[in-house]
Formats: sequence, C-alpha cells, structure tokens
Amino acid sequence: MGKITGFLEFQRLAEASEGAATRTSHYHEFVLRLTDDQARQQGARCMDCGIPFCQTGCPVNNIIPDWNDLVFNDRWQDALATLHQTNNFPEFTGRVCPAPCEAACTLNINDQPVGIKSIEHAIIDKGWEMGWIVPEPAPVATGKVIAIVGSGPAGLAAAQQLARAGHRVTVFEKSPAIGGLMRFGIPDFKMEKHLIDRRMTQMEAEGVTFRPNVEVGVDVAIDELVKTHDAVLLCGGAELPRDLPVPGRDLEGVHFAMEFLPQQNLAVAGHEVPNQITAKKCDVLVIGGGDTGSDCVGTSNRQKARSVSQIELLPQPPREENKAMSWPYWPLKLRTSSSHEEGCERDWAVTTKAFLPGADGKRVGSVKMARIEWQKDAKTGLSRMVEVADSEFEIKANLVLLAMGFLGPRIEQVIEPLKLERDARGNVRAATEGETAYQTSHAKVFAAGDMRRGQSLVVWAIREGRQCAQAVDRYLMGESGLPR
Ligand SMILES: Cc1cc2nc3c(=O)[nH]c(=O)nc-3n(C[C@H](O)[C@H](O)[C@H](O)COP(=O)(O)OP(=O)(O)OC[C@H]3O[C@@H](n4cnc5c(N)ncnc54)[C@H](O)[C@@H]3O)c2cc1C
Ligand code: SF4
Repeated sequence: MGKITGFLEFQRLAEASEGAATRTSHYHEFVLRLTDDQARQQGARCMDCGIPFCQTGCPVNNIIPDWNDLVFNDRWQDALATLHQTNNFPEFTGRVCPAPCEAACTLNINDQPVGIKSIEHAIIDKGWEMGWIVPEPAPVATGKVIAIVGSGPAGLAAAQQLARAGHRVTVFEKSPAIGGLMRFGIPDFKMEKHLIDRRMTQMEAEGVTFRPNVEVGVDVAIDELVKTHDAVLLCGGAELPRDLPVPGRDLEGVHFAMEFLPQQNLAVAGHEVPNQITAKKCDVLVIGGGDTGSDCVGTSNRQKARSVSQIELLPQPPREENKAMSWPYWPLKLRTSSSHEEGCERDWAVTTKAFLPGADGKRVGSVKMARIEWQKDAKTGLSRMVEVADSEFEIKANLVLLAMGFLGPRIEQVIEPLKLERDARGNVRAATEGETAYQTSHAKVFAAGDMRRGQSLVVWAIREGRQCAQAVDRYLMGESGLPR
C-alpha cells in the first residue's frame, strides 16, 4: 500500500478529455491519459485490501493492488511487468473496458472507486513510449503447428500465448485487417487502430503469422486446417445480428449497426468505401441501447447527422445503483457514454411496430412505435412486455440503425462442417474448467471468446484466449507452463 491515508486525502480524478463540440469534428481518440504525477496520486488511493475485490471483479484477474503500489512508488517498469502477467493487451482494455474491477473496488461502497482503468491506461502507454515492450520470442520451438480462426482479442491473446510457448501459430482472418470487432466494430474515437498494428508487429517478431482475407470454410476448408495442424482454435466471434422483422424492414435506410460502423472504420483507415452508408444530414434512429448503439450515436454525430435518437426496449434504469444491494457486482444503473454526451435523444420502454416509407416510397421516412410496460407474470415470475393502450407514436427517421445485440456465431463455415455441438444459445459448446477446458466435441478443435460464450467484452475475450491457449498447450505437450 503506497500511502496509508491516500484514499482520505485524494479525490478520484477522471481522465481529461477533449470537449464534445470539438471532438465530433474528427475520429481520433479524445481521452487524455493521466500525467505520471496524477497516476501516482490515484495509485495512492488504493487501500491494498486484504481481499482485493477489484482483482476478482476483473475477468483477467489483474493484480491491481500491486500495480497501484508500484506506480505510487514510481516503479513503472515493474508495474508494466505486473500488468502484463495477466493481460496481453492492456492498451485495449485501458481504453474500452467498462471496468467491472472499479464496480468491485472496496472504496466504491461509500466513496468513488480507485481509477483503476485510468492507471492501467497510464502504465501501458508509458511502457510503449519508453520502449519497454519488446518481442518475447520462445527460447525453444516445439515443432507443433496451430491454426487460429478469427483475429479478435480472443484469437490474438491465444496466438501470443501459444507462440511464446514455442508453437508455430497462424491466425486466419476473413476481413482485410486483423483485430476482429476491435478493428471493424469499435470506432477509432474509442480506440485507434495503430494500437493493433503495433501489437501485430510485436507478435510477428514472436513468430505469429497473420493471414487476413482468408475466410475459413470458403477460401480454405476447415477439414483441411484440422488435417494439417496439430490443433485448431475457433475464435470467430458471435457475428449473427438480432433482426427486427417488422413491416417495412426491407426499406432503404434500415441497416444493421455492423453494416454501418465497419464502413466508417474503413474510411478512417483511408479506404475508398463506395456507396458508404452515411448519417450526414439524416435524422438517425438507433434501436438498441448497448455499446454498439452508443457507437452508432458517436459515429452519426461525427458524420453530421441532423438529429440522433436512440430507443431501448427495457425501462430506464435508476440513475444511481443501490450499492448495498449490488456491490461488488456490476450494477444496473443508467449509463451515459461519451457518445451520448455529444448529443442524443434517448427513450426507454419503447417497441418498434413498423418502418414507414418517406416521400419517395423507397426509403424509410419515419418509424411507428408504441410504449410498453414490463409486468411480472404471476405464474412464472418472469417479466413480460405489455403494450400500453393508445400509446402509438411516430419518430421521423431516414436512417435506422439496428443495434439489438448478437444471437451467436455463424455456423456454415466451421461449426456445421465439423458437426460441433452447440449450447442452448447456439454457441460452440466447450467447458472452461477441467481436463477438457475449451475443447469442443472435436478433440483437436478448441473454442474461445464470443464464439463460445456469446456476445461479451474485449476483456472476457482476452481471458478466454489466454485460458484456451493454456488448455491447447497442455493438450499438445502433456503439461503447460502458461498461466491461466
Ligand atoms: C460495435 C461494437 C462495440 C463494442 N464495444 C465494446 C467496448 O467498448 N468494450 C468492450 O469490452 N467490448 C466491446 N464490444 C464487444 C467486443 O468487441 C467483443 O466482445 C470482442 O471483440 C469479442 O472478441 P472475439 O475475439 O471473441 O471475437 P471478434 O472480435 O468478433 O473477432 C472474431 C473474428 O473472427 C473472424 N472470423 C469469423 N469467422 C471466420 C472465418 N470463417 N474465417 C476467418 N475469420 C473468421 C471475424 O471476421 C472477426 O474478425 C463491442 C462490440 C461491438 C459490435
Ligand atoms: S478493491 Fe480498490 S482499494 Fe482495494 S485493493 Fe482493489 S483497487 Fe485497491
């Protein structure tokens, strides 16, 4: 514990950021990391709890109290080494993680939690700046060859761990660039893509081969990969979007969020995007209140939409959580993202009844909605949605973005040909514990990330990629020195 009275002396300090009015004129990151002195002071707020709830709240079990103390004591390089013990890519989580560790922090019971994510951000960015992060190639090659399908955070974390264990790893990716949803879903203003390129350079020096533009199941058969590799990891994500099959769904101007967002990321990367879907001068309606919806809001404002609204089926959550009930778990409360702050009308407990055509009869012009109530079913105890009588209304919208979550992985390319078992939600079935951890119903094939657990978070994908790498290493070598 750096400073015994730190949490009494110092307030939590949020990272500075560029104002909403100017940051919407570009696509760059706008959150500025803490200065070294600020980070030291924030580290001093950590109480080094006997039971560090932050660490169990963190999906990769970051050793948070240790690096808080090391930063306070100006031992940045040791802090970086401690951070890397549990997380391959803190520069990703330090930017886009919702920080369940902070919800779990003991200080959060009756005060503001330690700014764990901002300290992580400061450590990792300083580490790169100082040149402390270098390739760590394995001292001995095992001769085993491994194919990884999908280059999101799960595939990348698994690839780095397995290469460092001495295996020859190839990552196959159907998109033109590596990174999964971090490259093509998450906008640049939340996480710039040169961060992924920089890690790729490190991983290539560690022996990882990247094969973008290769769709497994189309350009190369999955059976072929299974035949020619000692193990295959499936990290293909949960790409099937939830649709809204109401009248007018086929009108022009109604798109899935993941048709809209990747195009802007490609444009930012300097690619020509013919017929790009744009929010420019549009009245935009985003349907769905999660991260993806919020990213559509931020992107629409940057594209200079005329107006941006967002609706959600669920009722508006409370502004403040009841900490006595929720701590140390992730609380249900109203979350206002930086994209919302940039301008957005939000509405809750609203259902969509139809998309209505505008003047040309082809493109959506407005959306018919109705208010709903959530009632508890007396028999089952489950909540059910009931439409409020005479509550229909219309919203003007000539661009509608559907951001209602993802149903699970696509099955045609790898799951069906290998006849893999799936769980009740349609994800690839694999346990996370025991002798067969991360192993699918095909002994040589493993699965991790959103493809196994369903739509989730970057930090969970990193955790699964790391744990799966250890399972694969054990499967190939009989034992593994990789951490779980
Ligand atoms: C718009 C959006 C914003 C998000 N924002 C956040 C956020 O702020 N914070 C956060 O923590 N999480 C966020 N998430 C969730 C997070 O991005 C995912 O949970 C995470 O990326 C999952 O990682 P993954 O490696 O399992 O899969 P993915 O990142 O989905 O990567 C899977 C990759 O596999 C490739 N692939 C699939 N099939 C094949 C095949 N047959 N052959 C070759 N390649 C294939 C895909 O092209 C893709 O690149 C967001 C998600 C979206 C959609
Ligand atoms: S729970 Fe909070 S105060 Fe306690 S060790 Fe973790 S970060 Fe520090």
